[in-house]
Amino acid sequence: MMMRRPVRLKPDATYVCVSAFAKVLVFAAVASGFSRITAAQQNELDPRIVKLVSSISEERLGAVLKKLESFETRNTLSSTDPTTRGVGAARQWILDEMKRFSPKLQASFDTYQVTPQGRITRPVELRNVMAILPGRSPRRVYISGHYDTVARPGGQGATNASGPADPDAPAARPADPNAPLDNLAPGVNDDGSGTALTIELARVFSQSGIDFDATLVFMCHAGEEQGLVGARLHAQKAVAEKIPIEAVFNNDIVGNDKGGNGIIDGATIRVYSEGPEDSPSRSLARFIQRWGARYVPSHRVRPMSRADRFGRGGDHSAYNQLGFAAVGFRESRENFTRQHDVRDTFEGISLPYLAQNARVNAASAATLALAPPPPGVVNDRGQPMISRAPSGYDANLRWNPSSGAVAYRIFWREAWGLDWQHDLLVGNVTSAVLPNMQIDDFVLGVAAVDAAGHESFVSAYVAPARATVPIR
Ligand SMILES: [Zn+2]
Repeated sequence: MMMRRPVRLKPDATYVCVSAFAKVLVFAAVASGFSRITAAQQNELDPRIVKLVSSISEERLGAVLKKLESFETRNTLSSTDPTTRGVGAARQWILDEMKRFSPKLQASFDTYQVTPQGRITRPVELRNVMAILPGRSPRRVYISGHYDTVARPGGQGATNASGPADPDAPAARPADPNAPLDNLAPGVNDDGSGTALTIELARVFSQSGIDFDATLVFMCHAGEEQGLVGARLHAQKAVAEKIPIEAVFNNDIVGNDKGGNGIIDGATIRVYSEGPEDSPSRSLARFIQRWGARYVPSHRVRPMSRADRFGRGGDHSAYNQLGFAAVGFRESRENFTRQHDVRDTFEGISLPYLAQNARVNAASAATLALAPPPPGVVNDRGQPMISRAPSGYDANLRWNPSSGAVAYRIFWREAWGLDWQHDLLVGNVTSAVLPNMQIDDFVLGVAAVDAAGHESFVSAYVAPARATVPIR
């Protein structure tokens, strides 16, 4: 007869870190389909994404930047006739380049006729250059930069030093508004860097052989320097045509690691994200931080809980303003004297730094595009599906199933704070109860996870704004 020994629990991370109510859920998850969520539980890296990330080439990024510099200016108002100089030649080259990568990649101009307004001084044809890599579903993940450039006397350095004056005020404009603006404006960092990153990711994604769930869009915006014009027009079209844009990764000034003050930082990247705390944009920023750290641990993502830097703007805001989740990647240390200046040349670029930023974009965009869509946590009356039932003191969460999900991961954090503090994988269920967790003290959210462990971004339970009724 065998002797039965008492079972001892090893003091592993699960039991040390997770409280009693969570253990209940762990067992619930095991009961509802352990074998299918093993990969997800283990948080394994996807070898296909590892390969995709490692195929990003500094040499290719450098070649694209030198080509973009060779057009001398890509100003929205520059001449379009020459075949080797100006915005017309540049956009044609970007289109032809992206057409070469793969028969799966659909490259085209996204064209608009713009009448004079704001900084657009004459009628102009504006062309975003976009390349679509169709996925299994129509939901879209964008990687973007802007290919247009600008240079003014003194550049951004003089603008910063002189205070809030508008450098594009009418007095600063040429006497003849119809004359092309053909002055030298190389724009290798602003935003050749974001453009080269976008083109390089179009190459590696379209040649990866990976069958993505989301449709990926590689977008080189036009007219950014005139007020995000190309991005605003495309975002307006997306609203009108009900194009389901799930996320926009915008890269603008991401290629220089040496600040104008001499401080060097080649190991971090800022990601600007508009609020409030649990806006779609913040969810996207947290997602990039989480998955960037997994696949590119040598490069730290620094989310910024603000729309952008003081007095500066970028194309992500054009999407934010129409309700889409969008963030802006910005190098950590800027050299303002090169920006919007003839000195924005290839010499100001660090290719290893730009490549690291490209890898963070690639890892997080690939994970998002392979994952199921984020689960809906709001009912058809616009209310978050969270309650204190059944005891009146519990966290009771419900969500809509996400196609392709085999598990869900619940996240929570104390209600004073920005980063998720805890997470817990549950099975293929659409509700969970966390006993004795006071929903008023924590922010809670849920992400969808597929069989290979790809995770959507987190849908958070947010109280809707209350309507104010004036007291009579
Ligand atoms: Zn820019």
